[in-house]
This record gives sequence, C-alpha cells and structure tokens, in this order.
Amino acid sequence: MNKSEAWTLKDLVSLEKLSREEIDTIHHMAAHFKQTLGRRQKKLPSLRGKTVVNLFLEPSTRTRTAFEMAAKRLSADVISISQSASSLVKGESLRDTALNIQALNADLLVIRHSAAGAAEYLSERLEIPVINAGDGAHEHPTQALLDTFTLREKFTPEGAEQLSDLSGRKITILGDILFSRVARSNIYAMQKLGAKVTLAGPKTLVPKSFEAFGVEVSHNLQEALADADAVMLLRIQRERMNAAYFPSIGEYTSMFGLNQERASLLKPDAIIMHPGPINRGVEIDSTIADGQRSVILDQVTNGVLCRMAVLLLTASAAGTKAKGSI
Ligand code: ASP
Repeated sequence: MNKSEAWTLKDLVSLEKLSREEIDTIHHMAAHFKQTLGRRQKKLPSLRGKTVVNLFLEPSTRTRTAFEMAAKRLSADVISISQSASSLVKGESLRDTALNIQALNADLLVIRHSAAGAAEYLSERLEIPVINAGDGAHEHPTQALLDTFTLREKFTPEGAEQLSDLSGRKITILGDILFSRVARSNIYAMQKLGAKVTLAGPKTLVPKSFEAFGVEVSHNLQEALADADAVMLLRIQRERMNAAYFPSIGEYTSMFGLNQERASLLKPDAIIMHPGPINRGVEIDSTIADGQRSVILDQVTNGVLCRMAVLLLTASAAGTKAKGSI
C-alpha cells in the first residue's frame, strides 16, 4: 500500500506531534480496509507470525476489544493482560513488566495506564513499537483518530474518491475537558484537519487556560451548540477527580446534559458523538444517544479500522528499522 510511504514512526504515543500527512496516511488506510474487508474477506495476512500484547492497566471495553480485533484481522496473535492478572500487583515495575513482554518476543505493545507519560516512557525504553491506548488525562491518540475518521466520513460527499478534511467545520466538545485525554487528542487532530474547535461545559471543568490550545472556550451552551457541525459529549471522569468540580451530578445534567431541548439548538444535520462509555441520563439523554444524528456506534466500528492501520504502519516501520516517535 503506497500510503504507508508517508510513515516512518516506530511508536504512536501522542497526536500532538503527529503531522497532517501522518493522520491522512492512517485515515486513507482505514478507508481502504473499510472498502476491502467485508463478508467475503474478513482477514488480511499482513501481521501473520507477529504477536501483539495489550497491556491494559485501567478499565476498558471498546479500546481493548477493538485493538484485539484489529490485531486478529491482520492475522497477528494477540495476548491481553490486565492489571489484576499481572505481576505489577506483586510489586514489579512497569518498565520491568514491559521489558519482560519484549523478552518474550512480543512484536508490538499496546499500553493503557493511569499515569500521563507512561506510553512515551516505555517507547523510549523498548525496541518494539509502543502504542498509547490512553495515558491518564494526557492523550488517547487512537480515539481521536477514529473520531476524526468518523467525522471525515460523514462530511465526505457521496461518490467522492477522497475523504474530505474538516476545513470550515465547527466542532464543539462538551463536558469534562479538564480530565479528558480524549479532548486533548481530539483538539490536536481536529485542528490539524482544519476544524475550528470550541470547548464547552462548566467553568471548573473547562478553564479559560485551554485557549492556549488555539480553541475557543465557551460557557454559554446555547452559543456553543448553535453553529456546530458536530458536538462531542464527554463523560464526567470521576475516577480522576479528587475534589468536587460541580455541586452534584443532577446539577450537571440540568445545566449541561444534552437533552432534546438543547439538541434542538443544533443545526438539523449536526452530528452527535461520544467516545463511550456513555452515562445515559447524565451527559446525554437516551433519545439523543439512540437518535438519527448519533454516530456513537459508527465511532466504535471505525475504531477497529483505524487501529488496524496504526498496528500495520508501526509494525512496518519497526520492521524497516525506522526511528522516531509520535
Ligand atoms: N473511553 C474514553 C477513555 O478511555 C473516554 C472515557 O472513559 O470517558 O478515555
């Protein structure tokens, strides 16, 4: 596949340093997989004989399953390890656990960790590719790749040969931005693809300091929703909070939850997104989550395709002894 020519990086640890060309390479490959993989051909032989290890040290349903499926669709062997089943509970360090996984001849390591920087730390110490599946409140690059892929798909006119980018699009991310790695990775990805990003939610969870990312910060929900082409809702990340950022969940829902009334402020063709897990009746009403404009399950489906591209590109770069991290 010629598109992989634009790829030389061993690891995927953040979207911050990923170039527009590299994002395009992943998205074009994901689109190619979507076209070619179907009922007839479910698997490609590309990673046959390779072993992918998923080291998931925080809970996950979608990301972990999608990485497993992506590896299997590329014919790799895949092993998943969780915190409670690893020797980390016996006091082994993350570095030692990872070095042991490499010594067992794994070819790629996918890591989810509660500490920001964990993936980058390992990428500097391992020879095999390290893929960040979420590091604390820092980044979740493959989530942003699948989110922006989903947006591009939806905004591409029918019959067009190439995916459209996000130029001229306005995207509002609403919710707990402060503790969200999904927000951070998406801010980078969406802007690199040409979108204007607005962050909305309570002042405590959406501080003005985020303007340093080049985004607009709005505490006026009406304004933030009115001209958006897409709105991405985020869950309240209570597991990362050590203080009260709003009076109660009920209060949050009444002020910022996306219900029918607020959704009617959106343009009729605006897209509604959520990385999951959704908390029905908190940040999003069931009628909205299951409604016509919701692309939440498309995001999940596209997650497998984008992760296939990431596994294949990083494995290929490692195979050709390419150097560098993103
Ligand atoms: N699944 C996403 C993450 O791992 C979003 C969330 O948990 O709310 O960051």
